[in-house]
Amino acid sequence: MDVTVSNPPRTFRPAGPRTVVLKDCARIVLEPDEQVTFHALSGAQYDVVRKDWGYYATPSLNGRLPQLGLRPVLVSSAQGKYYIMLVEPDRKEDFERYLEAQCLRVVTWLDDGRALRHLEDMLGSDRPEPVPDAGERLTDDELRPQQCAQGKREAFLRDVERLKKRRDEFVRVDCPACGSRQSKRVFEKYTFEYRACTACRTVFMSPRPSPQAMADYYADSEDYRFWCTHVFPASEPARREKIHRPRLERIVDACRRYSVGRATLMEIGAGFGTFCSLARETGAFDRVVAVEPMPDLARACRERGLTVIDQPVEKITDERGSVDVAVAFEVIEHLFDPRVLMDQCARMIVPGGLLALTCPNGEGFDIAMLGATSGAIHPGHVNLFNPASLSLLAETCGFEVLEVGTPGRLDAEMVRKAVREGEFDISKDWFLQRVLVEQWDRLGWPFQRFLAEHGLSSHMWLVARRRETTSPLRGRNRPDSFGVDDG
Ligand SMILES: [Zn+2]
Repeated sequence: MDVTVSNPPRTFRPAGPRTVVLKDCARIVLEPDEQVTFHALSGAQYDVVRKDWGYYATPSLNGRLPQLGLRPVLVSSAQGKYYIMLVEPDRKEDFERYLEAQCLRVVTWLDDGRALRHLEDMLGSDRPEPVPDAGERLTDDELRPQQCAQGKREAFLRDVERLKKRRDEFVRVDCPACGSRQSKRVFEKYTFEYRACTACRTVFMSPRPSPQAMADYYADSEDYRFWCTHVFPASEPARREKIHRPRLERIVDACRRYSVGRATLMEIGAGFGTFCSLARETGAFDRVVAVEPMPDLARACRERGLTVIDQPVEKITDERGSVDVAVAFEVIEHLFDPRVLMDQCARMIVPGGLLALTCPNGEGFDIAMLGATSGAIHPGHVNLFNPASLSLLAETCGFEVLEVGTPGRLDAEMVRKAVREGEFDISKDWFLQRVLVEQWDRLGWPFQRFLAEHGLSSHMWLVARRRETTSPLRGRNRPDSFGVDDG
């Protein structure tokens, strides 16, 4: 930064109906990513950040700026000139007097989420539709910092041992997506058996822990506690910016494209509350509800000031038809009976409202390559759907699928990691050897993007619309006694 103070300041009279004398006090030159902060005696603060493309003129209009004690407002003059002004909330009357004296008028206050959305909706009609893609590059270390790896692994293995002791409570199930009874064994991990549905190719654990054994697994899980106390806090900034913010943008965009209201957003399995906090701060929705039954996580959400429902989603009774958009990120693969979640969402979401899900894709690259060795094959992941089978499940539960894609960013890296750790041998596969090892820096990310954009990544995303009436598809594939194999 380079500052030149003008001493004495140069004085000048700007154009306008009243005679005002301004003092030009200094010249400040910022390098890209340098910030200056102006402090008022009242405590209000205002940042400007230099970028290599220009400036961030203010912090977020409906987030950080009002928190710093300034309300942005768009103002127009009688001569058709527009200005953005920042007003201290307790000086509003002074501001109004100023407007009157200068013949200015307020077009809109810009810290009002509803006004901003309205503006965006009116202006945004001819924007191109984005294709869900891989987005910005992301590495596994950003999400699971290395210093956490050892402790996490040990905690996880103790959880697995506890689960094994309850094997007599495990239950055989039919395909969780299509209900078919035909499946074949694909592999075993930690002595648990995984099968693939012969009709829809969903991979699922069967026998699987009973709902009670599963609930206890999570309630007692040392691994999850470790995530809460170590992994989430260490990786939150990366998760927030690289995962949750793009997700929120995709969801807001889907609302716009499918003309869905943004009164209430519900996140099922809100975890640490990162996504809900972001949704609330940005004003993307008027009301944000976090559903989180795990006590530690529910507390973390409450401490962030979120509205929390701390019971399992299927127990919620007072949100019928009140939700515009429900989201569940990395939840459905954990559920004993995923239809229970889908049915409950169908009850809570208004007709025409949206459901957005993310989960592993059982047919994605890293699972296809690594099989049981893949990190996605985990005792908590009892359902590994694929884009077609998850769509089928949604369609049979009262939804119309609007988008399904695999915007994953980690498959190539996970396979590369397994190779480097000696868990997966590609020494005879010159193609993978070239992409994942020899020319990793050049080919790794383009290869990952290819997987993501062509439905081949192990991480998937689905957006579905709640049908106006109950689907006629319902029934055909729906077993009456899910979870019990009487054959
Ligand atoms: Zn199936």
